[in-house]
Amino acid sequence: MTVLRSGSASDVGLVRSTNQDLALETSSLFAVADGMGGHAGGEVASRLAIDALTAAFGRQPTGVGLADAVTSANAVVWAHSQENADLRGMGTTLTAVALVDEGGHDVLALVNVGDSRSYRFHDGELTQITKDHSLAEEMVLSGELTPAEAAFHPHRHILTRALGVSPDVDVDVWRIRPIRGERFLLCSDGLTNELGNNQLIEVLSTVADPQAAADLLVRAARTHGGSDNITAVVIDVIVGDEDTGSVPAVATMSPAFVDPTGLASDGVSTPQPLAVPEINIPNRRDRRRAKRRERRRDRGRRLITFRTLLFMVLFVAIVGAGYYSVRWYNTNSYYVGVNHNELVIYQGRIGGFLWYKPVEVQRTGVTTADVLATYLPEIEAGVPESTLAKAQNYVTNVRKTANPTTVLPTPNTTAPTTTTTTTVPGTP
Ligand code: MN
Repeated sequence: MTVLRSGSASDVGLVRSTNQDLALETSSLFAVADGMGGHAGGEVASRLAIDALTAAFGRQPTGVGLADAVTSANAVVWAHSQENADLRGMGTTLTAVALVDEGGHDVLALVNVGDSRSYRFHDGELTQITKDHSLAEEMVLSGELTPAEAAFHPHRHILTRALGVSPDVDVDVWRIRPIRGERFLLCSDGLTNELGNNQLIEVLSTVADPQAAADLLVRAARTHGGSDNITAVVIDVIVGDEDTGSVPAVATMSPAFVDPTGLASDGVSTPQPLAVPEINIPNRRDRRRAKRRERRRDRGRRLITFRTLLFMVLFVAIVGAGYYSVRWYNTNSYYVGVNHNELVIYQGRIGGFLWYKPVEVQRTGVTTADVLATYLPEIEAGVPESTLAKAQNYVTNVRKTANPTTVLPTPNTTAPTTTTTTTVPGTP
């Protein structure tokens, strides 16, 4: 006797205008479909696939029945795309899990086509059951890419298998013995492109209610970028076998191999990229977003934002202070110089300073002939003064010096010869 509890959530995300994902949640059948194709194609494909799957599985609710249901869903989507020019090229991913009876034993049958994923979460451990049918995943399997590189690879959206894009479909199938306390997550790539394994684990291990967990997962992916439609279905095994650890929990239904961890994949097909030009070719915006996300993961968004802000404030302050210092230094200085035999007052530093060149602020009308020759070398070199008034004062003074009669007392009145003789030192 197995009892399941489930919850599901789906969101259009922050970038796409329509939600082409679709979640299915019944008492014994659960699925996620991520539709694609121009116009309404994606929405139509995921809807047709889910409806056909539900109907076919209802007629034959067994493990084999589930695999057959995927095949008939493929036929339905393919037929519609052939009949309707607007829908040509549409397709969808599909991953589904169903509780079925096999010879009196409860078994979970799990199927997958495309790059939506099914995970098993148990004892704090998250395991991806399904294998992505994407070009990036194929490149990982062939050793051309590391999983980390694949997560941001521009071709990660290109599928090597999808439902409804050709008359036949190759379906990956697993059979799983349900164990009390384990949890299954079915999701579209919109969730896993935004959240890493640790983030999935954090939610799955802390949020007990499956509906609340699905809601939180979708909300987290949306907050993290939401560059695609996001869908999650969480299924909990409430009553089931105790975990004895002796029997592999997951095994393939189709022949293929079973790996030592108990998880298996069909592992034999060598998928070719599908020739469906419209399907999820990553656009420039997707690539930019992925790059940005990569940088964010590297350094942490909040940290870089704060540091950038601090740096900008300091930078502006330093540059501003420097600029105003230089400006102050230049505009608060004057000198008297000579230009075409006329004494001229300049603002600025003699010879200029940095980008400031001296500016002529006053022609004095005083010529070099009006001042004593002894002053000329000094004036030609420039005589600095701190203010304009002081510079003007200097000009007035050197001019007066040249005309002693008008300014200074005559030498005769100030040189009494008598006193000089009388004050000659008298020694005893
Ligand atoms: Mn998607």
